[in-house]
Amino acid sequence: MHRLYETDDISVFWNSDKCRHARKCVTGCPEVFDFKRKPWIDLSQDETQRIWQTIKQCPSGALDIIYNHEVMVKLDKDNNRSTAVDKEGQIIGECDYQENADTITIYHTEVKPEYGGNEIAKRLVYKVFEEADRECKKIVPTCSYAAKLLSN
Ligand code: SF4
Repeated sequence: MHRLYETDDISVFWNSDKCRHARKCVTGCPEVFDFKRKPWIDLSQDETQRIWQTIKQCPSGALDIIYNHEVMVKLDKDNNRSTAVDKEGQIIGECDYQENADTITIYHTEVKPEYGGNEIAKRLVYKVFEEADRECKKIVPTCSYAAKLLSN
């Protein structure tokens, strides 16, 4: 299962398949990470710096954190895509998918080159991964970037 947790400033990626339950997250920031709560991550419960330091202790790579660099990412279900929007409201990246009865096929992910290096593509793809999880649909990545993320 993949999840993306966001504030205005940061995005936190969660890949449950990788978690080894070492509990570094739970002991580092108990108010933020609570396996008994749904959703189990609540980024409003502590300061960004402490959350950042805690996530960097995760030994498995199940958790990852990045700064948003004033780019917001959202799901655009009507157009079968997720989009990344800069502070001027311009679309600077998107991840496109096709939805069928049992599958979501991710076939294209692209971010404007001048916005490279900020993992915006990862945020875009995670938005679609989440949608597939919500809809209980299998992810079929024909986009090579999405395929790499799914297998990592
Ligand atoms: S620190 Fe990482 S490996 Fe350990 S419980 Fe948290 S997410 Fe899982």
